[in-house]
Amino acid sequence: MTFAHTTAARVRRINPSPSTAAAQRVRELKSQGLVIHDLTVGEPDFDTPAHVKAAAVRAIEAGETKYTPVNGTPRLRAAIIEKLRSRHGLHYTDAQITVGGGAKQVIFLALMATLDEGDEVVVPAPYWVSYPDMVLANDGTPVIVPCSEADGFKLTPGALRGALTDRTRWVVLNTPGNPTGAAYTPDELRALAEVLLDHPRVRVLTDEIYDEIWYGDGRSRSLAVVEPRLADRVFLTNGVSKTYAMTGWRIGYGAGPADLVSAVNTLQSQMSSCPSSVSQAAAAAALTGPQDFVEETVRTYRARRDTTAKLVNDIPHLSCTPPAGGFYLLVDCADAIGLHTPDGERIADDEQFARYLLDSRQVAVIHGSAYGAPGYFRISFATSADVLTEACAGIAAACAALTPATPA
Ligand code: PMP
Repeated sequence: MTFAHTTAARVRRINPSPSTAAAQRVRELKSQGLVIHDLTVGEPDFDTPAHVKAAAVRAIEAGETKYTPVNGTPRLRAAIIEKLRSRHGLHYTDAQITVGGGAKQVIFLALMATLDEGDEVVVPAPYWVSYPDMVLANDGTPVIVPCSEADGFKLTPGALRGALTDRTRWVVLNTPGNPTGAAYTPDELRALAEVLLDHPRVRVLTDEIYDEIWYGDGRSRSLAVVEPRLADRVFLTNGVSKTYAMTGWRIGYGAGPADLVSAVNTLQSQMSSCPSSVSQAAAAAALTGPQDFVEETVRTYRARRDTTAKLVNDIPHLSCTPPAGGFYLLVDCADAIGLHTPDGERIADDEQFARYLLDSRQVAVIHGSAYGAPGYFRISFATSADVLTEACAGIAAACAALTPATPA
């Protein structure tokens, strides 16, 4: 019997995360002694703030080492309610909050709790790699809606309307987004809400994991705030991974209708019982403690964003729009496709372009097709200014070496 026949259909329908695969490839190359300029990382390069670590140590010493309530500790839930109130003016009750092992798990469980076979989920592209596979893993059908760079990589009301059917259960809105960094303005959210108000069965999953890593004026906005009439249909997800450099602690949360939250909790009770008690203590400290870490890191990200976007836009064949939030740049490399490498190889697509950067200049990026963005690649600037500068020099040299096809 082959391995494939021992697994369920839902596993055969999906792929391991391409970003995890890219990180693995980089680790392998590094273990062979190669120096890799790694721009694939999807996590802050900063350490978790000291006061957050200290809270975890205190929790361990105080014996907070047992199962917690399925939906998280009362302290963490209160901290989340307070964050959503002070940040957005949103008022959630305790029964509307769930805490899970990362936003990823919360999103997965929300889909698992609501999708039956053939139910559709509208996923605007470019998308975070996990959405389509999470939908497929839960028997749903992802409906990918391409969003052009001319539209700021954002879903337009017309495209949304065209994608909705009577099987649509969810629309996913990731703002600010991975990999584009695009964020919806209040007016854009209002225009999408107008469409959604005509479709009462459709819920909206807002993934706001990058909300604090924000370079615009004011603050990034949430659909639940902009259109209160949709509030009981919005499942807002977020977490501490990106904002507080806590990816390994695995704490994320969801806020939304109590019936949905209760269904998520039922699944979680059978899946993991609860998230880690110690990590929850740390997450509560992150949300309620001093926020200067966030201000400082965003200042650093902003400087890196500006420098890197400029370097990229100076490279022939490449261009990018500086993101409104998050720590990624989605770079247009369509102009390089069809050109030839010094080895005479034709760059057929973005995946091959990314491989060319890795092989020729040891620069690791993730090809755009992985995010539903063919003709692009993603750079993460969650790495040091030195790595970014060296990597951009490598990319520039690789691009300069490309030549048009020699006529046959
Ligand atoms: N949503 C998006 C858009 C992300 O980029 C990520 C992390 N790569 C997540 C959710 C998951 O975050 P967490 O660590 O909380 O599971």
